[in-house]
Amino acid sequence: MIADHQTEALVLRSVNYSDSSLIVRLFSRDYGKISIIAKGARRSKDGTGALLQPPNHLALTYRHKDGRDLQTLISAEFEARYPNLSADMAHSAAAMLAVEMLDRATDEDDPQPLLFRLIIALLGALNAQPSDPLLLMQFYQLHLARQLGFAPQLDTCIHCGRPLVSAVVELVAGHLSCPGCRPEGSRQLDRQTLAYLRQLERTHINQLAGPGQASPAAGDYLLEHLFNHVDGMSRLKSLTFWREIQT
Ligand SMILES: [Zn+2]
Repeated sequence: MIADHQTEALVLRSVNYSDSSLIVRLFSRDYGKISIIAKGARRSKDGTGALLQPPNHLALTYRHKDGRDLQTLISAEFEARYPNLSADMAHSAAAMLAVEMLDRATDEDDPQPLLFRLIIALLGALNAQPSDPLLLMQFYQLHLARQLGFAPQLDTCIHCGRPLVSAVVELVAGHLSCPGCRPEGSRQLDRQTLAYLRQLERTHINQLAGPGQASPAAGDYLLEHLFNHVDGMSRLKSLTFWREIQT
């Protein structure tokens, strides 16, 4: 079946194809992750080539043909712009890392409107002034894990069910247990880090505390948690740059 699809979409990745075209992977609100070919986009004078770059948020129309891996672009324009993202390195690095994580964590043709909402909320929050990219990334990572179905259980020990005061992260599964049940683990989460993560879980992204509130220990834990659960997540290309600018 052939149909023209209209949807909001976020550009995940864009690669050159032949001498004038682009192959673009997008995460769309209504159809999930898709790949499209934009013929002649790099030569067109209307700026389509620049539009089809991560992490742009587009209103997209494309021709969908069942059974085909690559769909065909009809038109694209900005759905929203986030001008402050390119204003400094930390903000743009956070946006690129978030987009790459989303790409690694999702499959083609699997619509996940809540994940779409999460990434768009992140871009909006990164664009707001002032905003703390580190804090926002930690929020994003925790809620990404939640939407993907492996949210860490932050309140009670996975083994004995007692409320967690501090926690030990188990090596393989990444579960949190109380130090009594599992004295050894890959990482210790102290009382403050655990409280911080719970706060992050319950707060709306627009109500996060101001710059300087992010917890390095929580950040390390969240990344490790995603690495444990998503294939390929530990090979994120944009992670090296993101880590460099933290130091
Ligand atoms: Zn326990």
